[in-house]
Amino acid sequence: MNRTLLAALALIASPSYAEVVVLQGARLIDGTGKAPLENAVVVVDGGRIATVGAAGKVKVPQGARVVDVSGRTIMPGLINAHGHVGLVVGGQNKADGYTKENVQAQLARYEQYGVTSVLSLGLNRDLGYEVRDQQRSGAIPGASLFTAGRGIGVPDGAPPVPVAPDQVYRPKNAEEAAAEVRETASHHPDYLKLWVDDVYGKFPKMDPKVFKAAIGEAHKNKIKVASHVFYLADAKALIGDGVDALAHSIRDQPVDAALVAQMKKRGTFYVATLSVDESAFALVDEPALLDDPFLAGALAPEVIQRFRTPEYRDKVNADPNLPRIRAALGNGMKNVKALQDAGVNIAFGTDSGANPVRIAGWAEHRELELLVRAGLTPMAALVAATRGSAKMLGAQDRGTLEKGKRADFLVLAANPLDDIRNTRKLVSIWNGGREVQPGVQLASAR
Ligand SMILES: [Zn+2]
Repeated sequence: MNRTLLAALALIASPSYAEVVVLQGARLIDGTGKAPLENAVVVVDGGRIATVGAAGKVKVPQGARVVDVSGRTIMPGLINAHGHVGLVVGGQNKADGYTKENVQAQLARYEQYGVTSVLSLGLNRDLGYEVRDQQRSGAIPGASLFTAGRGIGVPDGAPPVPVAPDQVYRPKNAEEAAAEVRETASHHPDYLKLWVDDVYGKFPKMDPKVFKAAIGEAHKNKIKVASHVFYLADAKALIGDGVDALAHSIRDQPVDAALVAQMKKRGTFYVATLSVDESAFALVDEPALLDDPFLAGALAPEVIQRFRTPEYRDKVNADPNLPRIRAALGNGMKNVKALQDAGVNIAFGTDSGANPVRIAGWAEHRELELLVRAGLTPMAALVAATRGSAKMLGAQDRGTLEKGKRADFLVLAANPLDDIRNTRKLVSIWNGGREVQPGVQLASAR
């Protein structure tokens, strides 16, 4: 291939990198929680926000491409601080699903739904580090991948997900856990993941000596730790040992003042993942969800068909844990509201990609809706999903739309502060200054 053709192809591949782009006229929600700015001007240069401010106060650079976005709303890209890649293929959990091809396809899906960064919180093969590193050097498009590597589970216990042997550690004691954390640290993960749960009484729980050793060793290596939790008592023990984030809601009972004090003192992050519990029954309770093009666009038609069958409905209704899952969702909703009101650090995640009903792309917009139903204001939900997750990740280059930050943002046809479901009205997605078309463009977003 000659050099001119190569240059032309490079331009086609990333038209927005070569130029300065100015988006003007939109309402700007910047992710900090402050009131939106009407008639804003956003200047994007080299994948970053060069300037942002009110019309008339920002100088529009000569020669820039100007995009009129009046009537639209701009907000930061969503950051999913608890997702998964490479676990579900063709609507089924597959132990051999973690391939480069599948991971890349799932990062593209997240991005097309406005999720510009995702922390794959455990169950990653070592290949995930390669994908991350290649992506950071610009070779792979899609949502920015952060990875927690394999993670620390329990022998014959959580996580009960079919994966390859090199996808999760299951240490038998504290010494093994520490050695496996050291091995993980050699790959420079973005987080460490633990699973502390008996999954409705089905499995043995992780020995507290194991999680204490794992957290201690991770911190020695300057790696932050997130844990799967369910029970209030486990959350307190984990926070006592220094865990940095709770990766699910506390769902057995209401949170109490002692937990709030502990979380505030240590700055522990809380990721509610309300859609985890809801996804266990939502498609049966509300089959009309399957008619929503925004959900349907995230699944193959045969997978949608499977969720419509009486067999699927019967399977959901026959789950003896169903009443407990419904109660868990109720507790989770009350607890996230209580912790938000108490001023605890709230981040955002969905556990999407962990199983076929946790639908990556759709789940993140549903989670925002559930957070608002739980009592958070739309602004609080959006701040959790942008600045909150960025803070949990320690990713200072994203999460808000301020000068110098990555140009990771969404252009919406309607204001999500009026109705949180307006985050689904995606007009365009910008990831590192590169414009991406939505996977599904709703008629109401044109
Ligand atoms: Zn998970």
